[in-house]
Amino acid sequence: MPTLVTGGAGYIGSHACQRLLRDGHQVIALDNLFRGHRAPMDLLSHAYPRQFSFVHADVGDTEAVTAAINEHEIDTVMHFGALAYVGESVEDPLWYYRNNIAMGIGLLDACDQAHDGRGISRFIFSSSCATYGDPPEGMIPVPENCPQSPTSPYGYTKLHFEHILKDYATKRQREDNPIALTMLRYFNVAGSDRTGMLGEDHTPETHLIPVGIDAATGKRDSMSIFGTDYPTPDGTCIRDYVHVEDLVDAHARAMERVQIGEVQAFNVGIGKGYSVREILDSIKRVSGVDFAVHETDRRAGDAIALYNDPTKIKATLGWDAQITDIDEIVTTAYTWLKGHPNGYAT
Ligand code: UDP
Repeated sequence: MPTLVTGGAGYIGSHACQRLLRDGHQVIALDNLFRGHRAPMDLLSHAYPRQFSFVHADVGDTEAVTAAINEHEIDTVMHFGALAYVGESVEDPLWYYRNNIAMGIGLLDACDQAHDGRGISRFIFSSSCATYGDPPEGMIPVPENCPQSPTSPYGYTKLHFEHILKDYATKRQREDNPIALTMLRYFNVAGSDRTGMLGEDHTPETHLIPVGIDAATGKRDSMSIFGTDYPTPDGTCIRDYVHVEDLVDAHARAMERVQIGEVQAFNVGIGKGYSVREILDSIKRVSGVDFAVHETDRRAGDAIALYNDPTKIKATLGWDAQITDIDEIVTTAYTWLKGHPNGYAT
């Protein structure tokens, strides 16, 4: 099935492209290369010359996206292209709203207008557990019906776009031209493809696992734990780290199993939480390096503890994480980053 992957040159988007290509689909990756990389596009083009193509454009460029959808007869859109740093969204919320919402609407216009106004049939949105904010008592692990109350502008951009998508799906239903809409609320995505072709290359890098690995490999002198006074067993925040290949498997399943006319939201996380200290211990075990760690203040916008209740996604999509051992997840990230000290520019 021809599929448009927005943000296809980014970390998760490129892994999604790879998975779809492995499954035999035609894939059109669209990216403005603001934070995405040309290199994974070239690698995928080389590996799958007849199935893969790349469009250099903004997600919100309705004309370019409509043309790509029409030209490649695209029926399914996976939308990854967004800004995705909690801290940055606190610093510059308007940029986040403009990019993640206004540009997203430009994409939806294209999805609506394409195919002579018939529009596309399937939309899979990269949402986030950040839409839950700090879940109320009794809601951890977090089920999909947990109240959504973000603690950051980033979380709000994802929540607002979920609402926009639901309203759009309702419009399509009313027009008797229904769409299959899936919103996947990711927990913390980590690791990289186990063949070593693709990896995680962010500038700036702020995510815990790659930052810790940079400290282990000497790319940075030390790293910081943001807050050690949280009400958790060791005082640091707890997150659910899902391997990127398991995450993209959830997309592949949603594409196959969510039916036209359905609107579904699923959490994607392994169902187990690790504290920041536990993650750093894992990086030290995997790398064999006891790097320097400073304890600093809390980072604005961080939720205390978030890990998934995977009941719904298991029951509905038959999804279950295959890689649940944290050292195994960290090893895939470590192997790629060690071999690519300057990311894709190596
Ligand atoms: N974190 C940290 N030091 C770092 C980066 C992250 O202590 O250098 C913490 C952060 O405060 C959060 C957790 O690690 O509690 C995961 O953060 P990350 O940025 O990886 O993902 P997020 O949960 O914000 O999506």
